[in-house]
Amino acid sequence: MQTEAEHAEFLALLKAAREQVAYLKELGVEGTEKQPTDSSAQKVFTSDEQIAYLPVPHQQSVAAATASDSLFGDLTAPPIRIQKSSETFEEIWADIGDCTRCPLYQGRTNIVHTDGNRKARLMFVGEAPGADEDAQARPFVGRAGQLLTKIIEAIGLKREDVLIGNVNRCRPPANRPPTPEEASMCKPFLLREIAAVQPEVIVVLGNTAMKNLLDLKQGITRVRGQFQDYQGVKVMPTFHPAYLLRDPTKKKETWEDIKKVRDYLDTARKQES
Ligand code: URA
Repeated sequence: MQTEAEHAEFLALLKAAREQVAYLKELGVEGTEKQPTDSSAQKVFTSDEQIAYLPVPHQQSVAAATASDSLFGDLTAPPIRIQKSSETFEEIWADIGDCTRCPLYQGRTNIVHTDGNRKARLMFVGEAPGADEDAQARPFVGRAGQLLTKIIEAIGLKREDVLIGNVNRCRPPANRPPTPEEASMCKPFLLREIAAVQPEVIVVLGNTAMKNLLDLKQGITRVRGQFQDYQGVKVMPTFHPAYLLRDPTKKKETWEDIKKVRDYLDTARKQES
């Protein structure tokens, strides 16, 4: 006989499981409704007696990841890390001031600073604010941002757990990518924030973010899904959520990339303890 508390807990779990299935579906992950043919899923009973399936909890997939550290590079090697800076975001932002270093200031309503957990293990870097971000002075709050939030939640994190920033902090006209000159004016502040936080993984979203953090010739389609290095920090290039909104067939690849990030973080944490 179930107590009221147990029943409430069951309903909460059910709700969380349903939300997770919805996120995965939104991301284009297949097999969230049908019974899979392998054992890589667990049953989740819905109240209307249907059976939905979730991927195996990510802790289990970590075992496989641990067995194959080469996926992530040598985790036992002492990482050569960027010099940890003791600057605060407020100090960095004070330097930015009412910035007029590049022409993008002319069209902005707000400077959009990096947002989120300043002790984050995981950081996302995009290109530049769009109209919604410019209006609200927060990165990734428009449609692409809502999809990014779902991606973050799909790996069991909350938006508040991670750090989210952009190469440029002012909205370019008609949402065009920032020019290399515009990026070079703004990027140093992002790099100072990265040095202050020292995240373990940075996910670069799309070509502009990738090319500004990494010295690479190839484009995002070639490099996505393969861990790169930025001064000792693992960098995962993946598609920009705005691109996923235009071409939802690419959500599956993004999900594969993001799972690698999740597994890396889980493995690194295990090795720490
Ligand atoms: N696209 C970006 O690259 N950054 C944002 O903040 C919003 C949309």
